[in-house]
Amino acid sequence: MIVVSDVHKHFGGFRAVDGATLEIATGSITGLVGPNGAGKTTLFNVIAGVLSPTSGRVTMDGEDITGLPPHDLFHRGLLRTFQIAHEFASMTVRENLMMVPARQSGETLWNAWFHRARIRQEEAALLKKADEVLEFLTIDHLKEERAGNLSGGQKKLLELGRTMMVDAKVVFLDEVGAGVNRTLLGTVGDAILRLNRERGYTFCMIEHDMDFIGRLCETVIVMAEGRVLTQGTIDEIKADERVIEAYLGT
Ligand code: ADP
Repeated sequence: MIVVSDVHKHFGGFRAVDGATLEIATGSITGLVGPNGAGKTTLFNVIAGVLSPTSGRVTMDGEDITGLPPHDLFHRGLLRTFQIAHEFASMTVRENLMMVPARQSGETLWNAWFHRARIRQEEAALLKKADEVLEFLTIDHLKEERAGNLSGGQKKLLELGRTMMVDAKVVFLDEVGAGVNRTLLGTVGDAILRLNRERGYTFCMIEHDMDFIGRLCETVIVMAEGRVLTQGTIDEIKADERVIEAYLGT
């Protein structure tokens, strides 16, 4: 689904990503690991259109998406979540979900004035969708809660919920497990697996928790010093001396 070919991202003279090449298969949950400073977040930002690469190419289903802005990628079903959740703290959980879909008639005054009935219909459809998403994620009891009051793990579930409001195809998860307690980590993991199996989502996830990666990912890609060092199953990479060295070297 996603092919990254020889991507470089330099900051001044510093090569944060230095010729990364990798593939993310359709329907997979692929882990991206590596020591701090390996270039994982920078590569995510290049794929998700937050940063333009210095050179190299990214394709999605064979189409060149290199350097496309995030809103274009959003319309193609490519989304990323952030390590720090981006919720609207004073709005309810359900309102947060309803904010996501990009094109709502209510956005312009013209529409607000002339198409009230259509807006009401769209709002009702959004409300229904938001409730379905909350039920899928088993957080329907929190729908009227202010998002700012959620725990770290509940905020991560809300982030996943936002991707469901637009029927994403491929989601880049940035440390979705960070700061989440053990019980909720199980729930977040279950939601990812179900989105993958039942809704056909492809995931690529940066993660430090190797148990969490082991539970979810068939393929794990290891980055070090801006490049892909190796890839394999969690057991293969854990036993790989080059991987151990890369971690010990930091
Ligand atoms: P990782 O996510 O694997 O920890 P990052 O992609 O965050 O690695 O960072 C890779 C390297 O690039 C780090 O040494 C970091 O300091 C550097 N870096 C990241 N973003 C910038 C930036 N905007 N300007 C300069 N250096 C950066």
